[in-house]
Amino acid sequence: MSLPRTASAVIIGGGVVGCSIAYHLARRGQHDVVVLERETVGSGTTSKAAGGIRVQFPSETEIRFSLESIRVFERFREEFGVDPGYRKIGYLYLLSEERHLREFEKRIALQRTLGADVRVLTPADAQKLVPALRVDDLIAAVWGPQDGMAGPAEVTNGFARRARDLGATIVEGVAATALERSNGQVTGVKTSQGAVSTPIVVNAAGPAAARVGRLAGLELPVHPRRRHIFFTEPFPEIPGPVPLTSDVTSGFYFRKEMEQVLLSPGDVEDIGDDANVPMDWGKVEELVPKAIHRLPIIERARIAGGWAGLRPLTPDDHAIIGWAPGVAGFFLAVGFGGHGFQHSPATGRYVAEWLLDGQPSLDLAFFAPERFTRSP
Ligand SMILES: Cc1cc2nc3c(=O)[nH]c(=O)nc-3n(C[C@H](O)[C@H](O)[C@H](O)COP(=O)(O)OP(=O)(O)OC[C@H]3O[C@@H](n4cnc5c(N)ncnc54)[C@H](O)[C@@H]3O)c2cc1C
Repeated sequence: MSLPRTASAVIIGGGVVGCSIAYHLARRGQHDVVVLERETVGSGTTSKAAGGIRVQFPSETEIRFSLESIRVFERFREEFGVDPGYRKIGYLYLLSEERHLREFEKRIALQRTLGADVRVLTPADAQKLVPALRVDDLIAAVWGPQDGMAGPAEVTNGFARRARDLGATIVEGVAATALERSNGQVTGVKTSQGAVSTPIVVNAAGPAAARVGRLAGLELPVHPRRRHIFFTEPFPEIPGPVPLTSDVTSGFYFRKEMEQVLLSPGDVEDIGDDANVPMDWGKVEELVPKAIHRLPIIERARIAGGWAGLRPLTPDDHAIIGWAPGVAGFFLAVGFGGHGFQHSPATGRYVAEWLLDGQPSLDLAFFAPERFTRSP
């Protein structure tokens, strides 16, 4: 696919976020959109996601994002002609500290007001959902039966394919290398294969968002942090399906993937890179005691493999969505941390509305880039 020389908008990053934005723009009639992807579509941190989808967020805007995204996942197959592997396995949070329970109770009240189904369970009831759990040190659990999972690759490819069907151009192996500006307004993007002139550039570069922000002279507080996921050999001793189960105190979480168990130590590590993510097998030592503590039977399982990826975190753990302060025509859809996959359908919809209608139909002030630049 050759690179067009002009576009109504150029999106930097062909991950799940960039492809969703391209699809939603094209669906709304903006056909001449270009997505620049330096590697291949979906090969960035999207390929490392665990696929979890939950309504259990702390803020109204994020809960509304989840509810909107869940509606899309539910009808994904019809809209995109791809089975995204969507299953409502639920999310189960395990709580052993009073302060965590109080925080969750506050969120649950908000989640329920907005129509989400979230319930506090006793430890014994949590064990009915996952019999292999150790629960004697828990004070409660929080269960979201609406929550679930889907395949990040399937979803990204669904967005990309439909975006292309509708006229969008998604080019692979092409990196954005500079922004062109005139009088403070974006006028184009320089790439490894020539320039594209455009009045709008969207930064959807995932863990590389800060690097792309620097092309416009911005210091975006998006910090890539490494996280590992390991998987066992087939382990029928924990029969599936099980909810995505998260031990809030230790950070350990797990779910089943076919016959295998996926396990994460919940690690958060700065490795000083926004693209290359080596595995650290030493993390198995961090994982094993957390896993055996919560799931004693897992001692009998063997680790068969694993991977590591970067979660693009912001200082307050919420995404940054909006026009970049001081650079007209530069839009930010970055900093999605550990929830960019599940919020990609809503992100695409509301960003497209913002770019085409002048404002989104949902107030996105909560994600405002200015919150990190305003004086306190
Ligand atoms: C271990 C792990 C587990 C996770 N689990 C979940 C989960 O259960 N649920 C969930 O919702 N999220 C999860 N996430 C988070 C999720 O993966 C991310 O939030 C999401 O994938 C971000 O998507 P993106 O499109 O912004 O980034 P990316 O997928 O990284 O896409 C950005 C793209 O931009 C490209 N790019 C960068 N710079 C340039 C440039 N200069 N020119 C051209 N292209 C460029 C990159 O190659 C990349 O493909 C997890 C993440 C990790 C690491």
